[in-house]
Amino acid sequence: MFDHPEVRYLTDAKGNVESVQLSLKLWQLIEPKIHAQLKASEAPTPLVQAAGPLKSFEQLLQFWDFKYPYSPAVDCPYCGAKTADWRSDAEQPFILTNANIGGLLVFLCKGCGTTVRQKHFRDHMAVEHSTPKG
Ligand SMILES: [Zn+2]
Repeated sequence: MFDHPEVRYLTDAKGNVESVQLSLKLWQLIEPKIHAQLKASEAPTPLVQAAGPLKSFEQLLQFWDFKYPYSPAVDCPYCGAKTADWRSDAEQPFILTNANIGGLLVFLCKGCGTTVRQKHFRDHMAVEHSTPKG
């Protein structure tokens, strides 16, 4: 650790350094770098189909006891992307990101990043979506 009047190390009761305090001047100098660093290390949204949700989806189909057959059609209310069957569509416009045996399927629209949630109830399916901000 280096000693500098603009840098202060904050320690816990045992003297272990817990955090570092910087003068505003120094912070303003390095803030853009840290910002870029944090942005770069953010995990990107997975754009490949993961096995976990597929497994849950298979279980949902296995125990399907709703009053209507399962429909594999998905469409994005935000950008208009749609598929008649997300499982076999060569373009793979939607990725299943979450599924549960209770009837919830969550898809990610690859085109615009919108999350499409299909909630299966006994008599009908409800669709909700949320679009990414920014
Ligand atoms: Zn979309």
